[in-house]
Formats: sequence, structure tokens, C-alpha cells
Amino acid sequence: MRKTLVVGNWKMHGSRPANAELLAGILGARPFTADVAVCVPFPYLFETAATLAASDIRWGAQDVSAHEQGAYTGEVSAAMLAECGCRYALVGHSERRAYHGESDQLVADKAKALLARGVTPIVCVGETLAERDAGQTEDVVKRQLAAVIHTLAHCAGEIVVAYEPVWAIGTGRTATPEQAQAVHAVLRAQLQAATGHGDRMRILYGGSVKPDNAATLFAMPDIDGGLIGGASLKAADFVAICRAAA
Ligand code: PEP
Repeated sequence: MRKTLVVGNWKMHGSRPANAELLAGILGARPFTADVAVCVPFPYLFETAATLAASDIRWGAQDVSAHEQGAYTGEVSAAMLAECGCRYALVGHSERRAYHGESDQLVADKAKALLARGVTPIVCVGETLAERDAGQTEDVVKRQLAAVIHTLAHCAGEIVVAYEPVWAIGTGRTATPEQAQAVHAVLRAQLQAATGHGDRMRILYGGSVKPDNAATLFAMPDIDGGLIGGASLKAADFVAICRAAA
């Protein structure tokens, strides 16, 4: 039985007062039946950790360096994230792939660096609208995931996967539950073939998830929760999405 996981991706939003209000709203709405986590900007990790430490809400980062340490100005290592108590870190978000030119292999190397420090990578995969229209959705997501599976080898079963169609992120255009389910089933089969326990791994859906569409998405057999962008910034919306995960 896979436990639903709902993860907020704050992106580059927030301030100390706004974060305190948001986290108080989430904490005050517990308990949730789902596992719940927030992935926050690096400077807010320690304060988020202090706020959430006594609760069952987890926290994480939105990126990590593939390098262990050294002369990599501006980068943050997996060891540092582990020191901040991160349970999760996103890797391969489409905004990193698009704006920072991150390759499939770099994403895989980042996932490996995280696992070496006990932080669970949430590996984001997803096709652009042009790729979907060209009938390439399956090929694209399978290629992105294959790089991670190949690099992690026997540890591949320890990741969380997030299917995020690029055309649905921040656009208000959600994949239908059936469209999302079809891709999740492909990803699950790929994980099963690679690890032998893909049926126990969590695959999240992300892309304009809102309180009014979360329940139907999460009801699909291979959708194990959500990666939530815009709607994770308002406590009432994020809480409603967490509650939709029955
Ligand atoms: C995201 O950034 O991961 C995301 C899914 O964003 P949104 O929910 O705003 O589409």
C-alpha cells in the first residue's frame, strides 16, 4: 500500500513573515492522512526545520549540487541539505532543465549525490507541449527516468518520481486524470522492470493541482499524491489539497 505524499514547491517565493504564516496554517490543520512536505528556498531551510521539527510535516530543498564539495561558487551540497534535516530535494524540475540547461545525466548525478547523504530525491520528469503534440510523451519521460535508473542502479528504488507535464506547470492547464494516469502507468512499469518493486514506489503528479481538481487526480490508481507549486503558497489551498489525499 502506497501512502499518499503531497509536497509543496515554493519556488522562489516567500519571506520570513509570509513563511511563518503559511507554516502555522499548515501545522494548525493537522492531522493529515497523507504524508506532507514543503520544499523551500535554501535560505529558509533552517528556520523551516526549527518550525516543523516537532511535527510530522517534512521539509526539503528544490535543487542540489551534483558535487560533493569544493570550488563550486553558489552551489549547495547534499551534505549541507542533510545537515538542515531535509527529507527530500527536488531534482530535474522543468524550470531547472529549461532555464539552467540541466541534462538528464546531471539530474541523475544530483539524485545520486542526495541518496549518498540520505536525502530522498524527488525526480521530476515531463514533456513539453511540442513533445506531447508530436506524440513523444512516453519516449521523453522514459528517457528522463532511464538516466536516473541507470545511474542509481540498485538504489533506484529509493526515489520518488514526479510527473509534471511542462505545459501544465503554472499555466492553469491541468492534465486530465486519464492523461496523467496513462503516463504514471508507463513510469510505474519502467520502475517495476528496473527495481522489482515499482508497485511500492510513489509517483506524484504536478501541474496546476488545485483544491478543486486534487481529489480526482489522486483517485487515479497510479497517482500517489502531488507536487504543488502555486497552490502551495496559500495555507488554505495547500491544506485542502492535502485533505483531498484520502
Ligand atoms: C511545480 O512548480 O512543480 C508546479 C507543479 O507548479 P504549479 O502547481 O503552479 O503548476
